[in-house]
Parts: sequence; structure tokens; C-alpha cells
Amino acid sequence: MGKYQERKWTGEKGKKFGHVGRTEDPYVVEGGQEAAICTKCNALYQSKRWFFDDNLHRRLAGGDKVKEVICPTCRKIKDRYPGGILTLSGEFFKERSQEIITLLENEAARVGKRSVADRIMRMVPEGDKLVVETTTEKLAQHLGRAIYRAYKGELDFRWAEMNKFVRVYWSR
Ligand SMILES: [Zn+2]
Repeated sequence: MGKYQERKWTGEKGKKFGHVGRTEDPYVVEGGQEAAICTKCNALYQSKRWFFDDNLHRRLAGGDKVKEVICPTCRKIKDRYPGGILTLSGEFFKERSQEIITLLENEAARVGKRSVADRIMRMVPEGDKLVVETTTEKLAQHLGRAIYRAYKGELDFRWAEMNKFVRVYWSR
């Protein structure tokens, strides 16, 4: 009992995961380095945060002040581990699919400029349907809402795995 109490999390911020996070973070830079850089997508990592910055990337890339890595988002894509799946279907979709796919791509590019984590992994036709895998549950929802705003139709969300994975269905 005493032992159990000792191990119980006190609720202090960062106490439970802080140490593990520090020792296992593969992106933490070593002495003299300024940032980690993803060699696939050029994302930068500083102060525990991923971001895009063209100027900083130009200044640091290829030099000895960076640690070259593959970012978590590119790893997810490589391992095919989606956070959300958006399925598009219906007669209207069939007729206008090219236009709707362009909207999806533009919207994903807009979000992706600001956010390293949010990307479309792949788009796979399944019969008359289109299945869109995204790296985050947030992006799948965002894309579903963007299509709904533009074209109305039916939009439905189904959550799983403690809200870390979502299936989004749009149909018209
Ligand atoms: Zn990357």
C-alpha cells in the first residue's frame, strides 16, 4: 500500500511524463546544435516544437549546427499510421470529384503550411468512393467540414480509440 502511494501521480505538472520525455526524445539537439531538421519535409524542431521556417532552414541546412532527423509526421506517413480517414461518396461526388479533390488539396496545403503535423497521407479510390487518409484526426474533421461548407450534403463523424482516431463520412 505504501509503495503504491509512493508511485501515485501527485498531479504536479510534468511530473509523471517529464523525465521519460526528456530521456527518450530523439529530436533533442546536442551541444552546439541549434535545431533538428527533417530531411524529408524540411520541418524544424526547437524548444520541443515543430514548425516550418524557410529562412532558418536555408541558414541551417547542411551545416554542423543541425541534427538531421525524420520528423514524427513523416514517420507516420512512412508507417501508414493515419489519425483520421475521410470517406467521400454519392452521385454528386461522382460528378464533381475532380473539383472536390482540388478543394481538399488546397485546404490541406493551407493548413499544412502552418502545421507540421497535419497532412494528407494518401487518397485511394474504392469503387465510386474516395478514401482520404490524414495524419491527424483534426485534419480529417477539418477537410470534412470544408467540403460540407462548400457543397452541403451529409457529414458524419465516428470516433474511436479515446478520440485519437476519427472516421469522417461525407456524402452527397
Ligand atoms: Zn518531416
